[in-house]
Amino acid sequence: MLEIKNLVVKAQEKEILNDFNLNIDNGEIMVLMGPNGTGKSTICKALMHHPDYEIISGVIKSNGKLLNDLTPTEIGRLGFFLLGQNPTEIEGITNAELLRSIIGEINGKKVDVFAFQKKLTEVCKLVGLPKEFMHRDINFNMSGGEKKKNELLHLFMLEPKFIILDEIDSGLDVDAMKVVGELLKKYYDMYHPTMLIVTHHADILKYFDDYKVSIINDGKIIKTGSKDLVSLIEKHGFRSNAIAGSENHE
Ligand code: ADP
Ligand code: MG
Repeated sequence: MLEIKNLVVKAQEKEILNDFNLNIDNGEIMVLMGPNGTGKSTICKALMHHPDYEIISGVIKSNGKLLNDLTPTEIGRLGFFLLGQNPTEIEGITNAELLRSIIGEINGKKVDVFAFQKKLTEVCKLVGLPKEFMHRDINFNMSGGEKKKNELLHLFMLEPKFIILDEIDSGLDVDAMKVVGELLKKYYDMYHPTMLIVTHHADILKYFDDYKVSIINDGKIIKTGSKDLVSLIEKHGFRSNAIAGSENHE
């Protein structure tokens, strides 16, 4: 289980998360919704230990292990993986080079090149990218849709246990949304990862059978409930009494 308790996070002297509390069971999907500028991307990046975000106090634990003082590399080794809104472009390093070095790093031994190539070919096919994409620089000069698929290629290659999706659905057209939704569902069915999904739209959620929903406002969780909360939010908005006024029933 991932436990986040009384978390306070600052960036550039600004307190963004304040008394942030959230628990996610292993294999559970937690959807995080809330108005713009309330700290959704901040919690995603703080969980990955992005260097711009400083954990001032509070606790982040994964299956009882305290994560507060780990480096981003150590967090990655534990199987945390962030798929963001704007995938980073890295010129000069190919997908194959990066993935091979990460897999070697995670397993602590040299990668079997033939097995790696075979899996990479299969995964390219699965996510719908030509196999030449193995040798493309990471997300460099790729279209928006290709970048998202390229991130999914990394997902299936690295098989993370804890996936954070920060508005992966933003800017996707209907067809791309279907591809991304179906692939995420396939990944979930294959590996049963724990997931934190930040989204403004219910569209991506229809690919998942069950999930919980938490609402964030002003840097803290104000409510956690069942998936029914999504339709309540769509009907009444975040600031309605129906949502903000009712009790947190986690
Ligand atoms: P959301 O993802 O919910 O829209 P963010 O987590 O990106 O919101 O940002 C929450 C608030 O923190 C915003 O006011 C934003 O300007 C501020 N913020 C986020 N990251 C930084 C940073 N690195 N430095 C300074 N302020 C930041
Ligand atoms: Mg954001």
